[in-house]
Amino acid sequence: MDPVLKKLGWNAFFGESFREYVVGHEPGRISSVNRNGCKVYTKNSEVSARVSGRLRQDGHIPAVGDWAAISEDNTGTCTIHAILPRKNKISRKDAGRATGEQVIVTNVDIAFIMTSLNRDLNMRRLERYLAIVRQSGVDPVIVLNKSDICSDVDARINDVLAIAPDVPVYAISATGNVGMGSLSPYLQDGKTVVLLGSSGVGKSTLINALDGVERQKVGEIREDDSRGRHITTVRELILLKMGGVIIDNPGIRELQLWDASDGLLTTFLDVEELAAKCKFSDCQHETEPGCMIKKAIAEGTLPEVRFESYRKLQRELLAVERKKNPDLQRAEKKKWKKIGIMAKEIQNRKKRGM
Ligand code: GDP
Repeated sequence: MDPVLKKLGWNAFFGESFREYVVGHEPGRISSVNRNGCKVYTKNSEVSARVSGRLRQDGHIPAVGDWAAISEDNTGTCTIHAILPRKNKISRKDAGRATGEQVIVTNVDIAFIMTSLNRDLNMRRLERYLAIVRQSGVDPVIVLNKSDICSDVDARINDVLAIAPDVPVYAISATGNVGMGSLSPYLQDGKTVVLLGSSGVGKSTLINALDGVERQKVGEIREDDSRGRHITTVRELILLKMGGVIIDNPGIRELQLWDASDGLLTTFLDVEELAAKCKFSDCQHETEPGCMIKKAIAEGTLPEVRFESYRKLQRELLAVERKKNPDLQRAEKKKWKKIGIMAKEIQNRKKRGM
């Protein structure tokens, strides 16, 4: 196997699906996507490539992290002919697309869910990220940055462990170069890490510190656009000198739920377990007798904010489900229409004194 491709994450899984393209094509990994085309890492260099008309016609939109079959003609123009099947993907809702889904990054092994150890540390947001990551089949690692400005790091780590007992949690300072060694086991040749976290938590600083090079040099591509204007594109997939590939994608910063139902189950296993013990299987955890959730909240074993957070995620998921599934939408409408008719009937009966 080519050592450069291997560093980029190439393996037998992709090799198998590339077989049919071996003649006339070479594999490449997409490092950025823009309106004019893509940037692609190949075993020799990084090239600009356009998406073939056929691929576009078939609705295949490349995403950062994708492995593609590309060809180069005798004028040096590179074309993407196929996108190889994805190992996994992280998506977000996008009402503007027919599928309602926009794929943000693909073929990821580990997600660094990054937050900063100041007032930004928000457990509910962490839970959302965990649900998304788990649903995508990606291993989460929680990185608490800015340990230098936090006086009770251990207490914060314990707070995080309380909501994610089975997830590795590390406190670091990207500017102070503290605790960075704890991340190196995840940054190995062939492994792809995606950085998730709100703006300002220190993602760019971390990449610079890991690579030891300024981000401008690491992540930016300078080129001329079709009209000859000088433009700078941010390379979102970065091959680290120490090994491993890291993806920092701006779109991921405003992630909303797409299809995180399985992730929701593992993230809120405690809530799901309690719900399973309620007296009624369709318990809404409101006023029903024998509700184990209400009991746990009253006894203080389940924090109310955690339950509310679970509810909020559940509502978002249902909204997404409805959008994806018109039948469900219709069934919901029908249900509410029926309830409306029944309510009116009851009111009329009351009026008539029945
Ligand atoms: P990004 O938006 O997530 O890429 O965040 P940046 O990397 O741009 O960092 C945002 C701000 O946080 C910058 O002013 C950084 O200097 C600062 N910062 C990053 N890491 C640390 C850290 O470990 N400690 C402190 N005190 N500040 C940090």
